[in-house]
Amino acid sequence: MPDPHFLESNDTFVPRHIGPTESDIQAMLATLNLSSLESLVEATVPSDIHLQGPLTLQPPRGEQEVLAELRGVAQQNHVWRSLIGMGYYDCITPPVIQRNILENPGWYTQYTPYQAEIAQGRLEALVNFQTMVADLTGLPLANASLLDEATAAAEAMTMCAAISRAAGNERHKFFVSENCHPQTIAVVQTRAEPLGIVLQIGAIQSLDLSKGEFFGMLLQYPSTDGYVGDYSEFITRAHAAGVYVVVATDLLALTLLRSPGECGADVAVGSSQRFGVPLGFGGPHAAFMATKEEFRRQMPGRIIGVSKDVTGRLAYRLSLQTREQHIRREKATSNICTAQVLLAVMAGMYAVYHGPAGLRRIAERIHGLTMVLAEGLRRHGCAIGLEPVFDTLRVPLSPGQSDTILNRARQQKINLRRYDDHSLGMSLDEWSSLDEVRRLLAIFVGQDIPEEELRSILTSADVGYPAGLGRTSAYLTHPVFHRYHAEHELLRYIHRLQSRDLSLVHSMIPLGSCTMKLNATAEMIPVTWPEFGRLHPFAPADQTQGYQILFQQLESWLAEVTGFAGISLQPNAGSQGEYAGLMVIRAYHRHRGETQRDVCLIPVSAHGTNPASASMCGMTVVPVACDQRGNVDLTDLEAKATAHRARLAALMVTYPSTHGVFEESIRRMCQIVHTHGGQVYMDGANMNAQVGLCRPADLGADVCHLNLHKTFCIPHGGGGPGMGPIGVARHLVPFMPGHPVTQLGGPQSIGPVSAAPYGSPSILTISWVYIALMGREGLTRATQVAILNANYMAKRLEKHYPVLYTGARGFVAHEFILDLRPLKESSGVEAMDVAKRLMDYGFHAPTVSFPVAGTLMIEPTESEVKAELDRLCEALIAIRGEIQAVAEGRQPRAGNVLKNAPHTASTVTAQEWARPYSREEAAFPAPWVRENKFWPSVGRIDEAYGDRHLFCTCPPVDAVS
Ligand SMILES: *Cc1c(COP(=O)(O)O)cnc(C)c1O
Repeated sequence: MPDPHFLESNDTFVPRHIGPTESDIQAMLATLNLSSLESLVEATVPSDIHLQGPLTLQPPRGEQEVLAELRGVAQQNHVWRSLIGMGYYDCITPPVIQRNILENPGWYTQYTPYQAEIAQGRLEALVNFQTMVADLTGLPLANASLLDEATAAAEAMTMCAAISRAAGNERHKFFVSENCHPQTIAVVQTRAEPLGIVLQIGAIQSLDLSKGEFFGMLLQYPSTDGYVGDYSEFITRAHAAGVYVVVATDLLALTLLRSPGECGADVAVGSSQRFGVPLGFGGPHAAFMATKEEFRRQMPGRIIGVSKDVTGRLAYRLSLQTREQHIRREKATSNICTAQVLLAVMAGMYAVYHGPAGLRRIAERIHGLTMVLAEGLRRHGCAIGLEPVFDTLRVPLSPGQSDTILNRARQQKINLRRYDDHSLGMSLDEWSSLDEVRRLLAIFVGQDIPEEELRSILTSADVGYPAGLGRTSAYLTHPVFHRYHAEHELLRYIHRLQSRDLSLVHSMIPLGSCTMKLNATAEMIPVTWPEFGRLHPFAPADQTQGYQILFQQLESWLAEVTGFAGISLQPNAGSQGEYAGLMVIRAYHRHRGETQRDVCLIPVSAHGTNPASASMCGMTVVPVACDQRGNVDLTDLEAKATAHRARLAALMVTYPSTHGVFEESIRRMCQIVHTHGGQVYMDGANMNAQVGLCRPADLGADVCHLNLHKTFCIPHGGGGPGMGPIGVARHLVPFMPGHPVTQLGGPQSIGPVSAAPYGSPSILTISWVYIALMGREGLTRATQVAILNANYMAKRLEKHYPVLYTGARGFVAHEFILDLRPLKESSGVEAMDVAKRLMDYGFHAPTVSFPVAGTLMIEPTESEVKAELDRLCEALIAIRGEIQAVAEGRQPRAGNVLKNAPHTASTVTAQEWARPYSREEAAFPAPWVRENKFWPSVGRIDEAYGDRHLFCTCPPVDAVS
């Protein structure tokens, strides 16, 4: 007898994640003249690529059940004290920052701040971050985060190469000090090789600058084993020889040490992790880069700048934005797109909370304890490596001594760093105490240190720095670093900034290609469990079994979803997945002796990161045309593949296409490329339209990246973090990225593409929970409903705006493009005006002008209920009416409600109102805004002004109105 229905569990998730109810789905299907989701799939997805049978995943499960299982997995991680250092230090996340930023959807569900008028909060927070980095490094221009310290160093290398080339130099060598962190050296090596940059790794004393071979060099300050060298003179000599100098550094150390800028460095890079961001077994953390004013055009990543709005009010925006949106395609030297915004916000807020004096106290305490430890070790006959140091000591030992000490450390659950020469290292951090120092001394000397002796060591430790090395210049002098030290004040500041930003807590964010779906709370909860948060990336494997289980399960699920044989979790963003995947393809060709294969075919509709990634792999980009229906032009593809057949390395193709269409000929495209000896790289950013319906490997792709921050529910965090793991076919598995520190990978592995072996592990928990909750039926249904929602909206809107491309049977995939170009002719209204006007209706704009200029691309995702889709449709239809009024001359072409959008509270409540429309039409154009109004905090921002007057640190207080 079947169980009665009341026994069914109420702990469910699928109907919470998928917005539309069964009756909504029926109603939407009816508007499309379809009877079922299956018939929608039939009409949308080409029949020759349908997945045969369900995914072999578990059935859907409940939130409490899945969280309980993950608890068990987390308990197999063991949180020891990790004093391993190497760029990763345990720290204290101030609870007010943890709860109100890291755990707050008002912050973490924001999108990249392209629509600056409704993003002023995070833009201000990022300017604080940039100011903090600029002040501490002593270099005036900082960007708003990079992915990790190692990739930041690699970016700095290619940046120096570009600067040197622009100065007319023909140099190919880059010097790397052997005292850099090993993972940094390895990532720089991976990056240098395909670009023909020759690395020399060694001691700076051995460097011969006289031959004019080097365009740049990388130093670490303090070095990986702790030494704080005075590089000023050396940098002067390097400059005299035309060599640009990059210094990898530590922001906390710089509160006490002379800054790289003051020592003459051209670029400073590093990680801001220890400013309140959990270790997370390697990430996510915000790396930083700062440089001199004159190199701003070569700076990779996003830079937030200060500009003004139409009323002259101060406003922040992404500067040099056109560069970002088009990512300079094949001329790019960097492919950075998603970065680490949320973590940069946290690190900046940590500096706001502690202020310069507080940061200095944190640094002095760590440094002081380190010097006490050094003094104690010396008294007991242990030699100490080079001094002065900041927080890290290296103790030379014999192999026998080393083993004994490591054993004692293990008994105390302390991880030390072990060098190849058996010396041991340790880095103290914000959690260190005198008690810990005493324990460490006991571990090294083999006996307890009496209280009296400890006191004597304490008083004789020398905690100062030699003249010339200690910091004398001021930092963080701006009032923002002095006002919010009381928790109440910081709490209010965080919420004040948050209230200026539109996020998923307000309304749907219909950004085509970006998949702004639900980031469920249950998925987010484990991120801040200490068992995931407090593990060092190089902690011994027996302490990280929980993570290993998580990785294996997630890899096997992603392999099933994509059809691939192997998954690498290392790449930290989609762009890094592209780079890693192409490097794997390159290694495969080379392994087969086909070193000449270096041509990468890329359709003109591709995302800018595609050609940028290909050029980073040293490939030549050959564009492939699209036909009038927006599909890849097969004739052109065949012609280009044939013409380049001897050199063909790869095709990069997005599926469904960036035009939002399941192209019928995808199999044929893959065949053409394979016939000519190339490999197929699939950009998986649109995977939300494929999961459970078809699989990249079955279509013929050899590699594909997945943006876990799109399809697999990692929130966008205002522009990061993300994760971009790659799936690869069996013949490519041996070439997946390795890692030198943890011996990940085999003899044919390409070098690491990220600092940490598994990228940003702590946020992999989010995707794990999502897949576990949805199970095979839930994932497939999510894809079906994502396609349904897009087609329903397209159907409602096509009477008002032309839908640019559809598939063979007239349906779109999971997103669609509205063509606004005809309206520009008839009314002068542009896509950007519609984007700004949507803010008055309480919505974030769709994707503007990608992949086609003058259009809007809408991706509703499966998580939005029908009522929300209808609301957005109604807003767009009402705006269409406003455009019509302009076209018919009822409203002027200039100064109309669209051109003046968005409208702020101060504009509509001003004494003066001399506009050809009412205040009500301006601010309350739809009934729902009467109940729930989101006020843009500034009016339309002057884009050009900000680029002409690039200013990227906190503005003077009197400029803030
Ligand atoms: C988002 C996106 C990318 C870049 O991914 P990131 O994670 O931002 O680096 C590449 N291609 C397409 C089509 C995308 O939508």
